[in-house]
Amino acid sequence: MDIRILGAHSSELRGARLASLLIDDTLLVDAGGVTSALSLHEQERIRTVLLTHHHFDHTRDLITLAANAANYWQGQLVVCGLGHTLDIVARYLFDGVLYVNFLEYPSKARPCVILDAIEPNVSRRIAGYDVLALPAEHSVPAVGYRVTSQDGKSVFYTGDTCGGLADCRQGVSPQLLITEVTGPNENADWLRKVGHLCPALLKEELKEWRRVSGQLPRVIVVHVGNAFERQIEREVAQVAKELGADISLGREDMLVTL
Ligand SMILES: [Zn+2]
Ligand SMILES: [Zn+2]
Repeated sequence: MDIRILGAHSSELRGARLASLLIDDTLLVDAGGVTSALSLHEQERIRTVLLTHHHFDHTRDLITLAANAANYWQGQLVVCGLGHTLDIVARYLFDGVLYVNFLEYPSKARPCVILDAIEPNVSRRIAGYDVLALPAEHSVPAVGYRVTSQDGKSVFYTGDTCGGLADCRQGVSPQLLITEVTGPNENADWLRKVGHLCPALLKEELKEWRRVSGQLPRVIVVHVGNAFERQIEREVAQVAKELGADISLGREDMLVTL
């Protein structure tokens, strides 16, 4: 399983893109920074998108990806997420006012985007993977995804969250955990209030994970607050040292092979 981190930050600026992962070139998880990261040929290979929640920094490139798919290769994208997430995406991103309604374009009979609601805590076969959506604690309804390939490789991506990571230990433990740290420890109270992690909160989550499952997988941190990146990196390194764990910050275009 190849996991390519397209966007590893919580703000977009030169050299930094918003949350997106690409698995084996075909399965996209979140759509914050996709089209500026991939060639047209690479975009054409994407068939399925898993959305963790509706926030703009995780969904906005649905529009630019759908536009390229419709205009250049008559493609069709299946977009999966909670019913709540998909309702908001349909109502605001594909309302036909902001831009083209890709749920009915190029035709209602064969639209460019198809929405597919998923249930949390129910494992499903999606795009050849075993996909389990697990509820995430965030400011809006959200899930994380455990994606397992046919050869048993497994990654768990929490999306935006402020806790409850250990719940994803159910069943197969992932070889890789991709989670978020949006700000530094000094902003812990505010981050918790808006549904995000700081390094200290992450440490508590990982301790609980280890207590529950007896081990910790490799951890990669994304959704990094750009303005605090150096501080976050230092504080995450301290957590890694204290826990004796492999925890590092994700980077744009980073490729991890399981
Ligand atoms: Zn969010
Ligand atoms: Zn976010």
